[in-house]
Amino acid sequence: MASNNDVAALLEEVPFKNYPPWVVQKLRPQAVDLIRRVHKWVENECIPAEPILKAQLAQGKSRWVTPPLIYELRKKAKAQGLFNIFLPNHFKESPGLTNLEYSCCAELMGRVYWAAQTMNCHAPDTGNMELLAKYCSEEQKQKWLKPLMDGEAFSAYSMTEPDVASSDATNISCRLTLDKSTNEYVINGRKLYGNVLWNDEVKFHILMACSDPGNPNPWRRHTMIIVPRDTPGHRQVRNLSIMGYDHAPDGHGEYIYENARVPAENVIWGEGRAFDIAQGRLGPGRIHHCMRLVGQAERAYEFALLRCMDERKKPRGRLIGSFDSNIERIAQMRLEIDSMKLVVMNAADTMDIRGNKAGRYVIAQSKIMVPEKLAAVIDDCMQMYGGQGLTQHTPLPEMWTYARFVRLADGPDAAHRHQVGRDQLKAAKKENLVSKYEGYRDRERDLRKLWKMEGLDDEFDWEYIPLASSSKL
Ligand SMILES: Cc1cc2nc3c(=O)[nH]c(=O)nc-3n(C[C@H](O)[C@H](O)[C@H](O)COP(=O)(O)OP(=O)(O)OC[C@H]3O[C@@H](n4cnc5c(N)ncnc54)[C@H](O)[C@@H]3O)c2cc1C
Repeated sequence: MASNNDVAALLEEVPFKNYPPWVVQKLRPQAVDLIRRVHKWVENECIPAEPILKAQLAQGKSRWVTPPLIYELRKKAKAQGLFNIFLPNHFKESPGLTNLEYSCCAELMGRVYWAAQTMNCHAPDTGNMELLAKYCSEEQKQKWLKPLMDGEAFSAYSMTEPDVASSDATNISCRLTLDKSTNEYVINGRKLYGNVLWNDEVKFHILMACSDPGNPNPWRRHTMIIVPRDTPGHRQVRNLSIMGYDHAPDGHGEYIYENARVPAENVIWGEGRAFDIAQGRLGPGRIHHCMRLVGQAERAYEFALLRCMDERKKPRGRLIGSFDSNIERIAQMRLEIDSMKLVVMNAADTMDIRGNKAGRYVIAQSKIMVPEKLAAVIDDCMQMYGGQGLTQHTPLPEMWTYARFVRLADGPDAAHRHQVGRDQLKAAKKENLVSKYEGYRDRERDLRKLWKMEGLDDEFDWEYIPLASSSKL
């Protein structure tokens, strides 16, 4: 742990001055070095290149071809040791960052929507790499995991379906049937989302499908299987635009499987294990979006500050930032961003100290609060920027869209709330809240005796618990 003097010195330096002291105190020297380099990378290589990427996408022969800038940046990032820095400690290639240390890096990446991709730290490949590393055989790892880690292939995670409520994955109905005569699985169904197959860098989908619908145990009915691109019978119908954005060159596809055939050896960890695998995927990757969203909000906030100081924009002859209402709005936005940063960093730190399972509540807390609050902050930034804030003159509308979609992309926030609420009620039962209140009542009885107030008027009595023993004084 760094000394208070070292922490104080770091807190004077960008980007550390944006973090709370308790976070900076926990950063080890190798993390400090990496955070500095990620900061430099995003500021020098990504932010100034935003218009170039847009232009390359517009000028390319298709929007689904990855522009040359991204290839160039990936090569450079790899050479500088900035590749795969999300990897948890059990990978030999891992830089060994804690979740808390990585949250500082991810926030910086978040300042540009696509910066994480230049460092091979983007969704869904980060979650897929963890999944493949954890549950695949050695042969499968060589074939599917290695190209992802080398940044030579992309993948998709394909669970959601248009015809069922997919937030409850026991509903997933795409069928997977083993043809024993050829030792192949036959797939039939419809899927939504997952990076587009039109981009030929996407080499496979990790598909969740129903292999045993009659199994009395609903948690054993589903299987995960790797579907290589160009599998006959697997077809992309269209790209799904998100609030009008196509998110090229990665996109979100809608897919049909019509008697698509995949070798049985592509099953991950065995038939019926999809829910075990999905549980294992519930790791730190689940809050990477939130970490990056803090970075998006920081950037949106800078746009609002710029507008406040813009000499060209003076309603009633005054700078926008000179109106009291805007000064208050700036303060409120700062408070919201800082409080969401604390929520995310607390989740990361809790996972470091107590593990992913014990971090269940703080992960849900991040996923519920961060996208909703930061979407409101970005919305305010757009408003302060004026009409241009809603146009392609700024990245603000895309940032708002990102915040908005995170409320659904890893499961709807309502489902996380439902889980938190149920857990809270269960905990209240387990910790025996009722008997705690019966204890207060007993103690009250003693105190009444002490104060000779046994005959206290009902008017002063609490009715907070149904007393099993009806022991009214
Ligand atoms: C930009 C984006 C990217 C995505 N990427 C992927 C991807 O890569 N792979 C993939 O498989 N999917 C992806 N998804 C899909 C996403 O995971 C699903 O949309 C999500 O899980 C919800 O499933 P559903 O759409 O079927 O909604 P449903 O399950 O039908 O839920 C609809 C609504 O019902 C309510 N609801 C659901 N459960 C509860 C509950 N427990 N309590 C109270 N209310 C509830 C909520 O309001 C919820 O929004 C992506 C989505 C978006 C928007």
